[in-house]
Amino acid sequence: MKPSKNPAADTPPAPSNFIRSIIDEDNRTGKWGARVETRFPPEPNGYLHYGHAKSICLNFGLAEAYGGVCHMRFDDTNPEKEEQEYVDAILEAVRWLGYDWGEHLYFASDYFDRMHDCALSLIEAGKAYVDSQSAEEMRASRGTLTEPGRNSPYRDRGVEENLDLFARMRAGEFAEGTHILRARIDMASPNINLRDPAIYRIRHATHHRTGDKWCIYPMYTFAHPIEDAIENITHSVCTLEFEDQRPFYDWLLDALATEGQFPRPLPQQIEFARLNLTYVVLSKRKLIQLVNEGHVAGWDDPRLPTLAGARRRGFTPAGFRRFAEQIGVSKADSWIDMGVLEECMRDDLNDAAERRVAVLDPLKLVLTNYPEGQSELCQAPNHPLKPELGKRDMPFSRALWIEREDFMEAPAKGFHRLYPGNMVRLRYGYVVKCIGCEKDADGKITTVFAEYMPDSRSGTPGADNYKVKGNLHWVSAAHGFEAEVRLYDRLFAHPHPGQRREGDAPDAERDFLDDINPASMRVIRAWLEPALQGVAPEARFQFERHGYFVADRVDSKPGAPVFNRTVTLKDSWAKGGK
Ligand code: ATP
Ligand code: MG
Repeated sequence: MKPSKNPAADTPPAPSNFIRSIIDEDNRTGKWGARVETRFPPEPNGYLHYGHAKSICLNFGLAEAYGGVCHMRFDDTNPEKEEQEYVDAILEAVRWLGYDWGEHLYFASDYFDRMHDCALSLIEAGKAYVDSQSAEEMRASRGTLTEPGRNSPYRDRGVEENLDLFARMRAGEFAEGTHILRARIDMASPNINLRDPAIYRIRHATHHRTGDKWCIYPMYTFAHPIEDAIENITHSVCTLEFEDQRPFYDWLLDALATEGQFPRPLPQQIEFARLNLTYVVLSKRKLIQLVNEGHVAGWDDPRLPTLAGARRRGFTPAGFRRFAEQIGVSKADSWIDMGVLEECMRDDLNDAAERRVAVLDPLKLVLTNYPEGQSELCQAPNHPLKPELGKRDMPFSRALWIEREDFMEAPAKGFHRLYPGNMVRLRYGYVVKCIGCEKDADGKITTVFAEYMPDSRSGTPGADNYKVKGNLHWVSAAHGFEAEVRLYDRLFAHPHPGQRREGDAPDAERDFLDDINPASMRVIRAWLEPALQGVAPEARFQFERHGYFVADRVDSKPGAPVFNRTVTLKDSWAKGGK
């Protein structure tokens, strides 16, 4: 935020939270000299999901609010699972959300030399040692929550021996699992994470960026604090599962600062509750399974809760930011209903999206008294609340498409749309009176007939002479065009996919795949008004009476858009509606 003359205007606009309180206090005491430096540190082993959006909005949002910077950092210390494809997709998603890391793009793997130096200085200080127990032995001597661990027989190796063994680990002399570098802290600590945690292991693996330069790799819990310290991060915000790691985070950076590796003050780890969202799964493992087993059409399938999927779905960056602000940050784990996210998207789209007309389940309406071959242009507002967005022309003619559900031959009670003898308004056009219908051999209605009232055109004085209850949307058959529309819905039909629930047999296992919503996508052919034909990919609209739709960014062709439904106009899932 830019400094302003009015001190009140410097108050960050977003609602306060406990992390802002920590920063405010640091600024008051001058701990960081008013510097705020955060980071978003994904591991490039999958696509970003809705949960990451919370973390991105939080970290970049804090930097924005306090005039600081947020680093984009790939935590790529594990050589086995990481790929360039993920790096590219992650950068694209963060950029799409509207955040800019400027020159602050970093890769943890660029720090491998520095991390190695840190390990050496810990060994030299007697704070790390090479353990040569087997993995089994190490596990057995770690102790439990109630029992202390036992010291390794290798714990008291001298500095020279440790340096020699670590050098030979690095030189590739040993097989994986034969030696490991451990911090020397306290095998009796009540916090298991402080019982001499592993910090460097042997992995004869090729890394996506450093290639075969290394055959020893730092453990995540060792690497992460060092990355923060190297980058001068002030507030290292992470999710709650790292709370028990904080003592090690602090121990490690304190030990390295004591050895002169880093200046003080040292970065502070702050934990917040991750986003848990109903009707989706947010674990990378499950997302990968959905993609690999073909339950969805790829990482950017609009039903998948990835940010790539959200983009194709038509969700908006502003909607995600609104959502992040609304749910806030806290230390308490909780569940957020999917309806909250969808409502945030509706709120944003209601404001931002222009209105258009689409007939999703077309039935032909013929106006018997409208001359054949004639047509005229009706004017429809692009946005009911924003006259400045103007109007567009909608051709009107003798044969129109209307929604099949807007006609009933024998009307149900309270049905005010088209039925024989009833009058309705064709939105932005004329009032028409239904005079009958035609059916095929199976009794299916093929055409509805009506007469139009020539003096009833919207916007003319005569329009007021007609009081009708129905107000239908329509597309001129001769002017509209047919297009593919995909009606997306929630991917899972249950709020907690895979969770056992009442009525399940005691020994029954429930698989999250069993809860996939069979109606999560329906592909239809719809009739759209001509103004939609030339739209750009990713253009978003409200289709009147139907919901919000986006021109698919992958499958739309010039002059032949394909539309994805983003959300319906109302939440049909509320109160167990489905
Ligand atoms: P995994 O646990 O499979 O490694 P991850 O979701 O933690 O996956 P990371 O790439 O490590 O993936 O995440 C990057 C950042 O996003 C981390 O700081 C993490 O805390 C945060 N994050 C991940 N999931 C959520 C979530 N559901 N809500 C909020 N933040 C999240
Ligand atoms: Mg993680």
